[in-house]
Amino acid sequence: MSLRYDLHSHSLASDGTLSAKALVQRAARAGVTTLALTDHDTTDGVAEARQASRQADIRLIPGVEISVTWQRQTVHIVGLNLDVEHPGLQQGLMSLQAFRDWRAEEIGRRLEKAGITGLYPEARALARGRIVSRTHFAHALVARGLAKDVRSVFKKYLVPNKPGYVAGEWAELAAAVDWIRAAGGQAVVAHPARYSLTATKLKRLLGEFRECGGEGMEVISGSHSPDDMARMAAIARVSGMKASCGSDYHGPENPWIELGRLPELPAGLTPIWQDWVHAA
Ligand code: AMP
Ligand code: MN
Ligand code: MN
Ligand code: MN
Repeated sequence: MSLRYDLHSHSLASDGTLSAKALVQRAARAGVTTLALTDHDTTDGVAEARQASRQADIRLIPGVEISVTWQRQTVHIVGLNLDVEHPGLQQGLMSLQAFRDWRAEEIGRRLEKAGITGLYPEARALARGRIVSRTHFAHALVARGLAKDVRSVFKKYLVPNKPGYVAGEWAELAAAVDWIRAAGGQAVVAHPARYSLTATKLKRLLGEFRECGGEGMEVISGSHSPDDMARMAAIARVSGMKASCGSDYHGPENPWIELGRLPELPAGLTPIWQDWVHAA
């Protein structure tokens, strides 16, 4: 049987809209054989996902997507196949969760100043006691009719130079890679084409990442265009980085991204799962 990998997805534990259980079931129905749950800065959904995977005939890879600040930019590092019980990893993630809590209140205060009152408790309620993401603010703003959809709400309120934007003070690149490796996992640069870095700067990021012990980069991503995938494949080939693929699925509200609906890895790449032991 051929294996279908989707190594980047979100559940209600962060800013996805499906429970970890529903996510796993949907992935299995979509023909995914190996799914990584990679919520932002938390592994809280992994236990539920693992439980569901046992009934759904799908292999669950415990993962996380760590928010990193690199040269004043936010970059995401995916950790795959890690021990979610590892204290060093959890301590690191807790520091990011604490920053998220402060940032959420700060976003609320800044929006108040822009005349949008009482949004913080609404975003907090949407997050249901889990991590608060800008996505929760976006949904709350859309619910108030302040923009037609999530995409335009981000543009209007939640990106740099807009009223609800608070610059991140996320993990250092080396720290994020250390947490992942300490927990026995592999570190992968998420959606590298999405950061709008120049070729030189992207090369610098990948070089530093490798020096820290990072192993892979997403070549195939739900947020990469076909041209992005070809460019990232070329970079992976010459740099010797391993290649990963993931939809970055957040839920059925974004119909243009579906679990497991990804092109094959281009030829000449080493898959990040090369040394994984395949369960029968
Ligand atoms: P945060 O990590 O809380 O800053 O939120 C980042 C999340 O917001 C990303 O993981 C995406 O899911 C979402 N996001 C970021 N930019 C956009 C955008 N322009 N349109 C829609 N969603 C976005
Ligand atoms: Mn997200
Ligand atoms: Mn991301
Ligand atoms: Mn993601």
